[in-house]
Amino acid sequence: FKEDMKGMVEFRNVSFKYPGAEEYVLQNINFKILPGQTVGIIGRTGSGKSTLVNLIMRFYDATEGQVLVNGVDVKKVNLEDLRSKIGYVPQKSWLFSGTIKSNLKIGNDNATDEDLRQAAEIAQALEFIEEKPQKFDTEISQGGTNVSGGQKQRLSIARALVKNPDIYIFDESFSALDFRTELKLRRTLKEKLKDKTVIIVSQRIATLLHADQIIVLEDGKIVGIGRHEEL
Ligand code: ATP
Ligand code: MG
Repeated sequence: FKEDMKGMVEFRNVSFKYPGAEEYVLQNINFKILPGQTVGIIGRTGSGKSTLVNLIMRFYDATEGQVLVNGVDVKKVNLEDLRSKIGYVPQKSWLFSGTIKSNLKIGNDNATDEDLRQAAEIAQALEFIEEKPQKFDTEISQGGTNVSGGQKQRLSIARALVKNPDIYIFDESFSALDFRTELKLRRTLKEKLKDKTVIIVSQRIATLLHADQIIVLEDGKIVGIGRHEEL
């Protein structure tokens, strides 16, 4: 990775179809995210938002074109290296059975208790964790049934923060939160992640108002790109 390109994400003429599928899910995608920018990706259900961000982590390879992270084609980077630079909060957040603490430390085994506390606070998760008798040592039951959907989302966000990567990807990560909690969380994230590259996938424009760029997807194509005022 080149140091001055740390946090850069670029798509060059990317088209993609799922292995074995006939139809392209993404077509001729071109954009460049500069280090430290916050970028929104918006579009209807099925427009290709999750597929697009999945190509950044190289869960799949682009069928055509290039995906670059930190200035380097993701196909030329060691997978583990690539993923260590990215804090990905998936659309369906997952927890494994184990304590809250062990769940938060997945991406960063060296995190201290204070790191966990801070991440949980930013993610608006500290309050509900502290209300539990065992706090950070609370056991998550199989399938995470003893935490609500919104709590799961916030733990998933906290986990990405504990990892402290160059690039954050939030795929509908605020969808299970009530309006006030989301607002609080986004404000804190904006402040705490101001030097990081942040990609936020959302169907709600309100979530993306402060983005440096918004990419509008429709049927796998970019139909608009710019700041909120420009779209
Ligand atoms: P949503 O807002 O509902 O999350 P999205 O914009 O994230 O939608 P994608 O999940 O990227 O959309 O899906 C884009 C298209 O790709 C859809 O037509 C979907 O059916 C298809 N698709 C998604 N995942 C797969 C897969 N693993 N295999 C085959 N097709 C897929
Ligand atoms: Mg999606």
